[in-house]
Amino acid sequence: MGKRIAFISEHASPLAALGGADAGGQNVYVGEVAKQLATMDYQIDIFTRREDKELPEVVSFGDKIRIIHVNAGPAEDIPKETLLQYMPAFKADMLRFMQEEQITYELIHANFFMSAWVAMALKRELGIPFVVTFHALGHIRRIHQGDNDQFPKERLAIEEEAVREARVIVAECPQDREDLMTYYHAPAEKITVIPCGVNVEELYPVNKSVARSLLGIPYDEKVLLQLGRMVPRKGVDNVIMALAKARCRSSNVRLLIVGGDVDTAKELTRLKQLASDLKISDKVYFLGQKSRQELKYYYTAADIFITTPWYEPFGITPLEAMACGTPVIGSKVGGIKYSVADGHSGALVPPKDPEALARKITTLLQSPAILREMGNNALRRVNKLFTWELVARDMQAVYEGIIGNNDISYPRNFRTEEESVSI
Ligand code: UDP
Repeated sequence: MGKRIAFISEHASPLAALGGADAGGQNVYVGEVAKQLATMDYQIDIFTRREDKELPEVVSFGDKIRIIHVNAGPAEDIPKETLLQYMPAFKADMLRFMQEEQITYELIHANFFMSAWVAMALKRELGIPFVVTFHALGHIRRIHQGDNDQFPKERLAIEEEAVREARVIVAECPQDREDLMTYYHAPAEKITVIPCGVNVEELYPVNKSVARSLLGIPYDEKVLLQLGRMVPRKGVDNVIMALAKARCRSSNVRLLIVGGDVDTAKELTRLKQLASDLKISDKVYFLGQKSRQELKYYYTAADIFITTPWYEPFGITPLEAMACGTPVIGSKVGGIKYSVADGHSGALVPPKDPEALARKITTLLQSPAILREMGNNALRRVNKLFTWELVARDMQAVYEGIIGNNDISYPRNFRTEEESVSI
């Protein structure tokens, strides 16, 4: 049957459509890690909040994986900033489910601080140990977003307690590990660095001219791509401003912007206005959300993938671009300075600096040979370091260190960016 593991991911279901305000990397992470673990000796139940009253309680998500829709608060889409109040109900409904099914779990993997709250409550009541991946940290958000951060102030205390109570804290990159130690006094020996990954069966290079003709993009155009959740901290405005400053402006360059839905209408309006103010509306294409199956065409069609957030706990999109053989210009923050090797698989620039980004775009677009080489390096790098299969193997080492007889051994546990840089 395999060992039973519960994943809790209160706001991020693997079944959600991605790229709006709240659904993105965590949804992908939970689904992909579960899929890989299910091929090992595990059965995974993923507990996530019911956002739609029509959904059945239990949905099969492939062999040995179930998604359990938990009743906690209104059965509708509500912003994650307001969900903490429903976590006692989440815990109670999860307990009811376990009692009705007469099952328990050997381990809980909590994702995000609210899931960690539930995991701590279950640990107190049932003695089940837990591992936590925070995905984002309240302290870091406060530093960057100040008063715009709408999460309740209790978040920090919950994260601090989870750091104390978890058996292992999974940091997503060396910067995340450092932040956990600096702001939460997490003991080094409790943290293991396991990066995010990419599904190389879903994201791989396709023929560039095929991708371009499918998307209706002329082959002789230079294409820049920005793709992700449409929230201010992703710095999409920085990319638009850089395009206006780049010296390639007069040539055939277009910027594709993928992501954004009705919940992000305000941000989209702001970005469209910015493009219009800078007189480059004709070069900026707002394309909305795209499905997982379509993404490889967008990534392959692009000459450069650009992502310049203010901060980034990990950032899966650079890996996805690299998996399609596309070089990345990313901001030198968080997980990006770890996943993108500067000058090798792409380039790093300071965040919120359109001048620096414009210079990099100009130089790279003038050097097709360098771009090609970087694209090849990117593909090799991602396959060597950042597949979900590798991630799951690391995760298995963590789990077995807690519930198995093995000693904890972290096969990779990169503590610095440099350790992975030359690959
Ligand atoms: N995404 C998608 N369709 C879209 C926009 C985004 O599938 O239209 C996905 C994207 O491919 C990536 C995820 O949403 O897998 C965003 O993850 P990332 O870690 O880059 O950012 P986060 O959402 O965690 O801030």
